[in-house]
Amino acid sequence: MIGVAVLGSTGSVGENTLDVLARNPDRFRLVALGAHRNAAKLAKQILRWRPAYAVLADANAAGELQGLLGASAPETRLLVGSDALVEIASLPEVDAVMAAIVGAAGLRSTLAAARAGKRLLLANKESLVMAGPLLLEAVRASGATLLPIDSEHNAIFQCLPPDSRPGQAPPGVRRVLLTASGGPFRDWTVEALQTVTPEAACAHPNWVMGRKISVDSATLMNKGLELIEACFLFGIPPAQVEILVHPQSIVHSLVEYSDGSVLAQLGSPDMRTPIAHALGWPDRIASGVEFLDLIRQGRLDFQAPDPVRFRCLALAQAAARTGGLHPVALNAANEVAVQAFLDRRLNFPEISAVIEAVLTTTAGGAIGALEDVLATDAEARRLAHEYLAGQRAPRAQAARGAHA
Ligand code: NDP
Repeated sequence: MIGVAVLGSTGSVGENTLDVLARNPDRFRLVALGAHRNAAKLAKQILRWRPAYAVLADANAAGELQGLLGASAPETRLLVGSDALVEIASLPEVDAVMAAIVGAAGLRSTLAAARAGKRLLLANKESLVMAGPLLLEAVRASGATLLPIDSEHNAIFQCLPPDSRPGQAPPGVRRVLLTASGGPFRDWTVEALQTVTPEAACAHPNWVMGRKISVDSATLMNKGLELIEACFLFGIPPAQVEILVHPQSIVHSLVEYSDGSVLAQLGSPDMRTPIAHALGWPDRIASGVEFLDLIRQGRLDFQAPDPVRFRCLALAQAAARTGGLHPVALNAANEVAVQAFLDRRLNFPEISAVIEAVLTTTAGGAIGALEDVLATDAEARRLAHEYLAGQRAPRAQAARGAHA
């Protein structure tokens, strides 16, 4: 029995992971659950799974959870705070850690799982974008197994030679072709993009995902983050990664070899496939996914992305080329800007304006230690908030002026 900890269990990837675990009760034992503040959902998961540990990062929500459970889950030890997420990622009885917390908040627990030599199922792409060299070094030093959950990277992993190692360019690979759905606004004009609402941005045509990654998908920042993730995971430079818009999300990514062979992984757009692949690897296990019917599917289209209408992609590509601390600043500014958009404090095209403003004032430099990453992350967030405050002031004045 493989002991599993699911960090981010109340989210979209977390729930899909529990679904796959439920289909394979003879292979896996759920040891720990972790989330931020959704006490109601975590309480239900605890009562269903009876894990040895459960964590809420938020102390108020943890109090609510305690109240909801009362004495009904005596076998589950409730822990509070982000240090407890690090603790459950390193437990000796945990063999595999699903790192599915969203954003920079997932960095410490992901690093902890890598340092503890776990099988690390990496959905939290932000931790690789922020601290790729540190995470890969931790994996190498501890002998951890790093398996990508992002469907594109999981597809690439499946198309690479089986003895490939994280961060090392596999021999004979000419290019990696990273597919992108193009998001819900793929064909929208620059003018129409001004009118995008959070609701529309979160309604992805092919995938059901959390709100942050849905907005990233709509701006194409998700593909930019994935480009950086691919460079770290597969040890290749950005110039060797081509981004292809593929609206049907059936071909999850491709690898081109020097002899002209192109290997692809296909499947229904359902995260349970990469989750089951990584949980079962090297075996194949049931995922519950609908099998692909290519005749019904009929056609597969591909086109180039437009980094002019989708400026976030161009900014991420530039940060990937610059490297060092630039991706850290990109990620932090994006998190602040996306939250402001979701809170209706920013319109859709302004997300890229915030990121660009932060990146132009970022000093950059190499990543030496985790402290460098955390300092750059904090500074980029400060700059992004400052930019947002500056944006609001002139706008408020303009509005007052117009009224007068
Ligand atoms: P969701 O928003 O659906 O879920 C996020 C999870 O993270 C929730 O469990 C949430 O807890 C938890 N969380 C948020 N903030 C904190 C915090 N400060 N401390 C601890 N836990 C926290 O996100 P997704 O499942 O969509 O995405 C998760 C990760 O997987 C992201 O990095 C995303 O990029 C990546 N990914 C997602 C895919 C998808 O299909 N959804 C596909 C590929 C990658 P709570 O509910 O309590 O707030």
